[in-house]
Amino acid sequence: MLSTPRLLLICLILLFSASQVQAEFWPRESRVPGGIAILEVPQRSEAPPHVYFQEERVYTARKNGSWYAWVGIPLSQKPGDTQAYWRTRDGDLALDFSVSNKEYPAQHLDVDYEYVALSDEDLARYRRELPELRGAMNHFRPVSEPLPEKVVKPLEGRYSSLFGFRRVFNGEPRNPHSGLDIAAPQGTPIQAALPGKVVAKNHYFFNGKTLVIDHGQGMTSMYCHMHEFVDLQIGDRVEAGQVIGQVGTTGRSTGPHLHWTMSLNTARVEPKLFLDSE
Ligand SMILES: [Zn+2]
Repeated sequence: MLSTPRLLLICLILLFSASQVQAEFWPRESRVPGGIAILEVPQRSEAPPHVYFQEERVYTARKNGSWYAWVGIPLSQKPGDTQAYWRTRDGDLALDFSVSNKEYPAQHLDVDYEYVALSDEDLARYRRELPELRGAMNHFRPVSEPLPEKVVKPLEGRYSSLFGFRRVFNGEPRNPHSGLDIAAPQGTPIQAALPGKVVAKNHYFFNGKTLVIDHGQGMTSMYCHMHEFVDLQIGDRVEAGQVIGQVGTTGRSTGPHLHWTMSLNTARVEPKLFLDSE
């Protein structure tokens, strides 16, 4: 026979594990350029709703019986009222929301001249590589990967450059920083943030040794400047937390770090919104 305190303890453990199993990752909302708007979609059926933002299909997920669209807001979005569209049999219905202003700080960097003023050869290489990278990042695969309990931070380290920084290279304004830089010693293992499928693996001019993972429904992640790849090929499945490479400084990089990008509906968004507490 079990004593009453012991029985109580077992009940508590069971209750705790049940709530653990049900917990699913959910990003934090931030309706700013580079953030995520989470919009309820009043669709009752089990099938995922079709939602579009700026012509791009949007990630949808279910919570407590309701459907929600996770709209990635591009850094280039003008603050103010906007809308996503829910495609129904009776036509498109607007899902209105408002984007607040966010001033990202400027970051001045001195980088090697060869990475700012490209030679004809390097420029040709960059232009060749761009469609491959964009194609992988912006791809929509209508499959819903089961959401894990939490997103795995790819590695621990100091944030050496934040998402959204307006970059100024050798005094010249450039595109804003579309990812989060985490500095760590060369060789530090990098883990996949979420489960998915490898859709790009290459040594690119700017991004260095890079892996792109497709998490389904237009959610992708990219890991750049790696020192070494691990034995993963395009098409391979990865689990959240699986080691996918090592920190390095390949490509346009000023020291060993991981550049981690998260993308929703082709919009690069703040990776910290996917982490529990940041
Ligand atoms: Zn970076």
